[in-house]
Amino acid sequence: MQNQLSCEQVTALLSFYVEGKLSNKLTEYVKIHLDNCPECMEKFIQLKHMLTKFVNNQEPEDIESPYITKQYETFKSNLSAYIDNELNNLDSIKIKKIAISNPLARQDLENIYTFKKLLHSSFERTKTELKNDYSKSTVNNLQHENDEQKNIDAFFKLTAIFFIMITAIVAGIITILYF
Ligand SMILES: [Zn+2]
Repeated sequence: MQNQLSCEQVTALLSFYVEGKLSNKLTEYVKIHLDNCPECMEKFIQLKHMLTKFVNNQEPEDIESPYITKQYETFKSNLSAYIDNELNNLDSIKIKKIAISNPLARQDLENIYTFKKLLHSSFERTKTELKNDYSKSTVNNLQHENDEQKNIDAFFKLTAIFFIMITAIVAGIITILYF
């Protein structure tokens, strides 16, 4: 069956799945995998909470887990500042220690890095698309100018031929009349 996704594939698709950006078919495949894979389901829940927090700037609802401690809450409230290098050395060491000891925190850290990378890559993609559009329109403009140039050339050629013909005819008439 084609619809058996691996954990790696599901992980790669998760952020798109959370944002509802997958096709109906892929959404269905991811859903089937999540229903049968607790590990990926856990990742999904984490990512969903993280995205909810960052997109809507809201605190996620509490999830039942032994790792949700006061320390973890500290970690979460400092994570954004940590990622943006806004913490002092002591505080960022604290965050690193929590990330090492708490799997939830570690997952959050990985997710936020993935999220940032995704944001960055989609930004890059937009930039590339814009660049492509720009060069496309530049090429179109050049093409257009070429066409205009050709039209002008053709006009001058026709005019030249016309004058040569008129001159020849006039010369012929003069020759016939006067010689
Ligand atoms: Zn899985």
